[in-house]
Amino acid sequence: MGHVDWDQLPLSRATTARRAERRTEPEIVRAVLAEPGTLVVLVHRKRLAVVPGEGPERLLALVPAAEVADVADAAAHSPETRPTWLYLGADDDRAYVACILPDAAGADELGLEGVAPVSAADAVVARHTWGSLRELGAQLTTRDVGLATEAVALAAWHAAHPRCPRCGEPTEPVDGGWVRRCSNDGSDHYPRTDPAVIMAVLDEDDRMLLGHAAQWPANRFSTLAGYVEPGEPLEAAVRREVLEEVGIVVGGVEYRGSQPWPFPASLMLGFVAHAQTRDIQVDGVEVTDARWFTRTEMLRAVESGDLGLPSRASIARALIEDWYGGELPGA
Ligand SMILES: [Zn+2]
Repeated sequence: MGHVDWDQLPLSRATTARRAERRTEPEIVRAVLAEPGTLVVLVHRKRLAVVPGEGPERLLALVPAAEVADVADAAAHSPETRPTWLYLGADDDRAYVACILPDAAGADELGLEGVAPVSAADAVVARHTWGSLRELGAQLTTRDVGLATEAVALAAWHAAHPRCPRCGEPTEPVDGGWVRRCSNDGSDHYPRTDPAVIMAVLDEDDRMLLGHAAQWPANRFSTLAGYVEPGEPLEAAVRREVLEEVGIVVGGVEYRGSQPWPFPASLMLGFVAHAQTRDIQVDGVEVTDARWFTRTEMLRAVESGDLGLPSRASIARALIEDWYGGELPGA
């Protein structure tokens, strides 16, 4: 144990202060866009504008406010094509906002080659390279991954909550994108995060249990995970999920760390779960196969290609490598 720094998980490495006290300033996004040095994170269809290239370290393509001034001009948009602006916070040097470009922008991305960009948002989409947080999360720098995770999580919430849960009328973003207000009854609605437990199940011989889900590639195995139910403490959620998915009884449960997983709204809470039984009985629905691995067996399976581990951006990978005691091969 001790391989993983639980405060530095790939998507948990934010360095920018959120400065929540500024969100209620009048026209906060407009004000911040007018401040010198402000940079804009661009989000389009759940992806981020990134600096093109390969390599171990990647950067967001952060643009100065002037470069998106025409997109920020609200008069240029109908309600359907209006971007959503978010105040993300600031570090010592500058403030950051995000611009969520409308899904409809970027005709060239729809495969309509030869069609000229028709709006300011189209032009922004066309001149950038786009990548997903899931793919790039482990490679982005600490500042950039923090901004990206915050922006993608908020963008997913806005996309899923266009209407008031009380009356069904449209809601509008206010307070720098941190609240949606009902146009009809004035009620305020706040971003949501869904807690999910994810656990490295270990037996008395220190073997680790990994499970396989039906929709995954045949060799893909990972730690078990599941959503916390209403009215349920985390420890009970760990024991319930393991019993439901593989029929194993868990005793002691130890918390390790957390990271946001905004695809679309999860907060992954990582645990080590100590099994009191060993016989596996998969539920056949969520988990269709599960196996115990010694460290030697796991390394051999990964090297032979029989076992594909979860991505380096995931907390599942951190739980596995913390137990293994070092990095395992494979992306
Ligand atoms: Zn309402």
